[in-house]
Amino acid sequence: MSLDDNKDIIDMDDNEQEYEDICYICRRPESIAGAMIKIPGNICICKDCMQKTIDTMQNSGFNYDSLLGMNNNINNVLNNNKPAAGSGSSEEDGEDSEDDAQDKTSRSPLPNISMINLADLQGLMPTARQKVKKKKKDKVKPLIDIKDIPKPHVIKEKLDEYVVGQEQAKKIMSVAVYNHYKRVATDTMDEIEIEKSNMLMIGPTGCGKTYLVKTLARLLDVPLAIADATSLTEAGYIGDDIESVLSKLLTAADNDVDKAEQGIVFIDEIDKIAKKRNTNQRDVSGESVQQGMLKLLEGSEVEVPVGANSKNAMVPLTTVNTRNILFICGGAFPELDEIIKERLNKQSSMGFRADLKDKYDEDENILSKVTVEDIRKFGMIPEFIGRLPVICTLEGLSEEMLVKILKEPKNAILKQYAKLLALDEVKLEFDDGALEAIAKKAKEKKMGARALRAIIEELMLDIMYEIPKDDNIGSVTITREYIENTGGPVIKMRGVMELEDISLPTGAAAGN
Ligand code: ADP
Repeated sequence: MSLDDNKDIIDMDDNEQEYEDICYICRRPESIAGAMIKIPGNICICKDCMQKTIDTMQNSGFNYDSLLGMNNNINNVLNNNKPAAGSGSSEEDGEDSEDDAQDKTSRSPLPNISMINLADLQGLMPTARQKVKKKKKDKVKPLIDIKDIPKPHVIKEKLDEYVVGQEQAKKIMSVAVYNHYKRVATDTMDEIEIEKSNMLMIGPTGCGKTYLVKTLARLLDVPLAIADATSLTEAGYIGDDIESVLSKLLTAADNDVDKAEQGIVFIDEIDKIAKKRNTNQRDVSGESVQQGMLKLLEGSEVEVPVGANSKNAMVPLTTVNTRNILFICGGAFPELDEIIKERLNKQSSMGFRADLKDKYDEDENILSKVTVEDIRKFGMIPEFIGRLPVICTLEGLSEEMLVKILKEPKNAILKQYAKLLALDEVKLEFDDGALEAIAKKAKEKKMGARALRAIIEELMLDIMYEIPKDDNIGSVTITREYIENTGGPVIKMRGVMELEDISLPTGAAAGN
């Protein structure tokens, strides 16, 4: 009987056809370790581990035949199947079986030692960990029906409701996502295979990279995992294994492998895994991580720890195919602008079209002129860039955009506060001067829109604390003076009376 025949029989015995067994000792699933030996207590052990155990016992002079009377089962599997690669040569096996025969005749069970019957441990064993979901071999059923995929202009319109500006990035993303899910829905495996449209987003911090991806995943109703490239290291080093990003996706998909396989993974701070310059040490968090990510980005079957950041003996593994997972990498790429400028200056200072050297110094949108060559120069390896064919750049947010972000998006922060105060039947307003002053302050912090929330939280603290004290207050208007620390908000009582704020400390919002 061949190994495969035997495996079939063992598989058929398994009632839960959907799951595959994993070895209790080495944790490998049966798709990798081969047929399992089942022993009482609902425990499965792969033949490699069983062979090693028996070898150890024999070397220590132990009569393994007496153990649980399971030698028939063991011998059936071990004799009928050749051991998997690495488990010893056939010559050694021959010696082993001779030894076995000797053992059986000459050795007796060890005196004064009582063996644990593994069957007694039934119920104490973590049987749930014994099995991991079996990879479905048949075609993955797309979660998304091709007719249901929103058209690019519809995706963009939806994004417009939440994300201010970034027109080009929204357009590029809408098209890329539309194409990606078309590819997933049709699952084209004919001659014209549509290539994966993984994306690279470049833009200063706080300009909406993560927010765009989050909004997109919500609109499409697909699982999303957000990982930080800074915490990733080559397997075996302190930090998260690269596969941990897929563990997160699996969690976001409620451990549904099919769902996870069509989700989106956003890897932030991707610029932090650029090749380290001037280093003689092994680059475990830079180039090696890029190398390690190649197979994920391209599409391959990856063993993923379920519910943990790294593989170890106590964590069950499952296989996830990354072929239909959309990877979006984002980063601020500081100093990339210098690389672009240098290239452009070099080009324009040659020949007839020689230009002023500092022509690009004031160009706010210099990032939009990025090329693959610039990114390579920054420290990303060509294979890595090659797997992110869609590159989009996001612009830094101007004061005008910051004002819009404050008040326009569907869940704008000012709308949120207005709603909170509306529950106390108080109307909250910001005059235009206040909005401009907040935007100016935020711009100075150079953290993009992220600074807005911090500023607003601080300035609203006193308002949210004081206003509910007085039930007569009907409306509050935040003024430029209040933001700039030179006056207070305008408070109107219910009815007609209007007061300059008396109770609130002047410039509570100043925060500096
Ligand atoms: P990063 O580009 O560093 O990933 P984020 O996307 O995390 O920045 O942005 C931080 C916050 O700023 C978001 O949660 C969002 O509320 C707000 N924000 C940033 N950019 C925009 C934008 N273009 N439109 C609306 N809100 C934005």
